[in-house]
Parts: sequence; C-alpha cells; structure tokens
Amino acid sequence: MTTLFTIDDLHVSYGKVEAVHGISLELDAGRIVSVIGPNGAGKSTLLSAAIGLLPSRGRIMFDGSDISGLGVEDRVERGLCLVPETRELFGEMSVLDNLLLGAFSKRPNKAKRQALLDHVYKRFPRLAERRHQHADTLSGGERQMLALGRALMSEPRLLMLDEPSLGLAPLIVQEILSIVTSLRADGVSILLVEQNALAALESSDYGYVLESGEVALHGDSQALKSDERVFESYLGGV
Ligand code: ATP
Repeated sequence: MTTLFTIDDLHVSYGKVEAVHGISLELDAGRIVSVIGPNGAGKSTLLSAAIGLLPSRGRIMFDGSDISGLGVEDRVERGLCLVPETRELFGEMSVLDNLLLGAFSKRPNKAKRQALLDHVYKRFPRLAERRHQHADTLSGGERQMLALGRALMSEPRLLMLDEPSLGLAPLIVQEILSIVTSLRADGVSILLVEQNALAALESSDYGYVLESGEVALHGDSQALKSDERVFESYLGGV
C-alpha cells in the first residue's frame, strides 16, 4: 500500500501557546483514517495546519512531495480539501451554486462541470432534488451533504473532514458516515476528525487518539475499539 499523506513531528501554536506538540501520522492511499479525542485535544488545529490555514513546524508530505512550505491554494491544487466544522456554506445561494463554487479552482469547462455535478448528484440524490433551494433552507444533514458534495466538486485526493457528525441526529450521522465510507470506492482518501469516537472507529480503517495536543494511541480501528483505554475514555465504558 502506498503512503499518500504523512505528518511528521508537527507543532502548531496560537501566539506563544503551543496547541499541537509534535504529532506524527500516516495515511495510506485509499484508506480512511480517523482522529478522535476530547474537546481541545488539537484535532481541528491539526487539520487547519494540514491544509495550510495555520503556520506549523514539522514536515507534511503529500504524494511523495514536501508540501510544508506551500500555501492553501497550492495544497488544494494538489488535491487536498478540508470540510471545516462550520461547513462554510453560502446560505443565500442555491445548492447548485454552492456546488459550482467547489469546482471554481479547477475552472472546468461546461461538459466537465456537468460531469462533476452528475457525479455528486449520484452520490447525493437529495441534493439533486433540492438543487434550486437556498442552502440555508436545508436540514442539518442535507447541509453536511452539501458541504461534502461541494468538496467532491474539487476532485480531492485527500478529503479532510472536521466533525461531519456535529449537531446531527444519530440516524443522520449513520447516513453521512456511510456516504463517507462509500467515497473510498471513488479513490478518495479520508482523514476523519470526530468527537463521536464509536462512529469514527466504525467508519475508518485506522485511528489516532489525540490528547492534549499529542498522539496518545494509534492502531487499526477495530483494535482501538476494543482497547480498554479507548473504551473507558471515549466509548462510554464504566
Ligand atoms: P474541539 O472538538 O472542541 O474543536 P479540538 O480537538 O478540535 O477540539 P482544537 O480546537 O484544535 O481542539 O484546540 C486545541 C487547543 O488550541 C485548545 O487548547 C484550544 O483552546 C486552542 N485553540 C484553538 N483555537 C484557538 C485560537 N484561535 N486561539 C487560541 N487558542 C486556540
């Protein structure tokens, strides 16, 4: 299996306060890797640094190249894509226009644009039905689908998802995560940040547990699920 993405000894600070203290992780092409951990563990900070929104120390490798010195645009150009916790949709714009914005950096011609839309609508039939509706009239689950659909419009090779289950009812969480796992079949690799540890481990191949800005544990998701420490701290064990 080829390694697609490597983070090596990453340090990230907010002003003088360091929030991420030397995190290393690896993601093989075509796999889903989850990052779990409590509030404030540094999960979102890790993703922001990975896409280049926050400056960091350490090395970030993507597809064999060192991308640590690149800005956000260049990282996106290479195939990285972040869906932030806030989803960042344009509420007053239609579903269709939100999707088209996702392809903006690719400047696709009309045929390519339609092909990308068709692909997203196939994955998310509900977005097709609601394509002329304003984004802010969508349900929470549909909004997350739109955020994912918009990300797919940029044809990412590595999709980084920050808490896709946030604020959603359990059934919708299952629906969203089963769509996420189905994206693997399209050749998209996924870094999945979640506070919902059980759902994340059930949807991923490998997992990292962050605590206080450091990797506390990592391993195959199945093994982590049955690890006593994970069970007690994150899966509601007593
Ligand atoms: P959550 O799930 O609550 O978002 P998290 O694991 O994603 O938690 P981060 O948001 O990455 O954690 O926060 C890691 C640490 O960095 C925390 O101590 C937090 O207070 C701090 N932090 C996050 N954002 C900022 C900021 N903009 N300025 C200063 N400190 C910040």
